[in-house]
Amino acid sequence: MNSGTSALHLALLAAGVGPGDEVLTVPFTFVATTAAICYTGARPVFVDIDPVSFNMNPALLEAALTPRTKAIVPVHLYGQPADMDPIVAFARKHNLVVIEDACQAHGARYKGRRAGSLGDMACFSFYPGKNLGAYGEGGCVVTNSADYTRTIRMLRDWGQEKKYHHVLPGFNYRLEGLQGAVLNVKLPRLDEANARRSTRAALYNQLLSGSGVRTPATAPETTSHVFHVYAIRVADREQLQHDLTAAGVQTGIHYPIPVHLTEAYSSLGYRKGDFPESERAAAEVLSLPMFPELTEDQVLEVADAVTNAMRGAASGILAEVPA
Ligand SMILES: *Cc1c(COP(=O)(O)O)cnc(C)c1O
Repeated sequence: MNSGTSALHLALLAAGVGPGDEVLTVPFTFVATTAAICYTGARPVFVDIDPVSFNMNPALLEAALTPRTKAIVPVHLYGQPADMDPIVAFARKHNLVVIEDACQAHGARYKGRRAGSLGDMACFSFYPGKNLGAYGEGGCVVTNSADYTRTIRMLRDWGQEKKYHHVLPGFNYRLEGLQGAVLNVKLPRLDEANARRSTRAALYNQLLSGSGVRTPATAPETTSHVFHVYAIRVADREQLQHDLTAAGVQTGIHYPIPVHLTEAYSSLGYRKGDFPESERAAAEVLSLPMFPELTEDQVLEVADAVTNAMRGAASGILAEVPA
């Protein structure tokens, strides 16, 4: 597929999702999850996150269910799988299709099983910044269903069953061959790159304990968190980000506005306060530098900068006085 967004779009279409249907997902995610649901004409219905894992809280699914609910799209945010067993059990009970948004979780494992093998279909993005990135846009759907495979293969290539035999009204969502060649070389190195990320994350956790920021938690069900993003939580996020920028440390915010409060999706009718955990996370998260090539020394430098900033400006200056 030519992007993770296209992958989500076609997985939803293959699941039979369309106008009049509702799809359960989270508001604390990249906007593409919601956008893809809207492309089908269905309505996204949000379910709040668990504040520790940042992922869909399965206990809240029941309250969001209606006779129109057709599918669930849990997101494996930051590279940690959502708590899939209760989500899939709920889906089976209510005859819903489960589509994993695994766009941040290439190689992650839940109870030993890979992200991408936990629902009915799963979608990956190969955007250059993802854990498995092409040199341009890309994506894919994985599934063990022959029916979904056949439908999605047709939809991504103009709905053709064979050349000029258009069975479905389709799209031009094909992956560029060149990107496939790049991914073919990079895929065998994915686990190694993920292992480096998780080693660096463990070092951050150790160095930042007691600094006053909350380091990311790994759920007991998570066999492997692949740290697409290493996000800490801090009450005064803007101040810390400002201090880190001044110290030469670039940070990011994934994501500052939960989707239900974005202007783009205001017509869904949600309001501030509807998803308190998503809103609190959006206000408190700060992503520290995280990529496989990050060195131990760089982690030490960033952790020092965070610790100094949390101690306040005075000690930040003292730290620069030569011994
Ligand atoms: C990146 C991403 C997408 C979209 O992937 P693209 O390849 O950029 O279209 C969807 N969902 C999540 C959670 C993502 O991080």
